[in-house]
Amino acid sequence: MFPKNKLKAITLSYDDGVEQDRKLLEILNRYGVKATFNLNSGIQSGAGGWNRNGVDIRRMNAAGLPELYAGHEIAVHSLTHPHLENLDAETVRNELSVDKANLERLFNAPVYGMAWPFGTYNGETIRIAGECGLRYARGTVSTRVFNVPAADSERMNFQPTCHHDDPKLFDLAEEFVSLKPDKPCVFYLWGHSYEFDVNNNWDRIEKFCRLVSGRDGIFYAVNREVLL
Ligand SMILES: [Zn+2]
Repeated sequence: MFPKNKLKAITLSYDDGVEQDRKLLEILNRYGVKATFNLNSGIQSGAGGWNRNGVDIRRMNAAGLPELYAGHEIAVHSLTHPHLENLDAETVRNELSVDKANLERLFNAPVYGMAWPFGTYNGETIRIAGECGLRYARGTVSTRVFNVPAADSERMNFQPTCHHDDPKLFDLAEEFVSLKPDKPCVFYLWGHSYEFDVNNNWDRIEKFCRLVSGRDGIFYAVNREVLL
């Protein structure tokens, strides 16, 4: 059960700490919708970046991020965004434990969970993440269901309801809004904020927030409030 005996929660998860998070946060804050932002503290810098479909994508510099992300959750996304399952155990441990420590220092708050870089992982990376004190971890496979993890084993390979570009996004949102559940359920949305620029579809997140926000029966949560 969520706070105030609510049985429905909505939470968002956005990766990589890019410049477009600023616009996403403006929208989320306007609607009172909460998210967890998964950051790579080893490369949290405006140097470098990449281009997709003519859109320049850059990570933000670290200064000012605690103020920018205030009211939301920060989580691990590894130090440098590698494919963790291809690395030796000590390097996986370094990627996760140092990112966690860096983020806890920068944001002056405990960090509880993570999103797998590229959505890839294996049993070994799950074991090491647990040893690093991480208690939930998100993949990238859409389930199109609203399940809350029931056991610790499900928390370390949790899969989202859908990505914001899922053609079923608004059908699922309307289904969730009218749902009258008898057990806790969550609408878990994920993506990268730069994709709204690349696909020129910021209207999707605006419409999603308008549809789901301001409802008495829904708890607007960061990830750890739903997954732990
Ligand atoms: Zn990523």
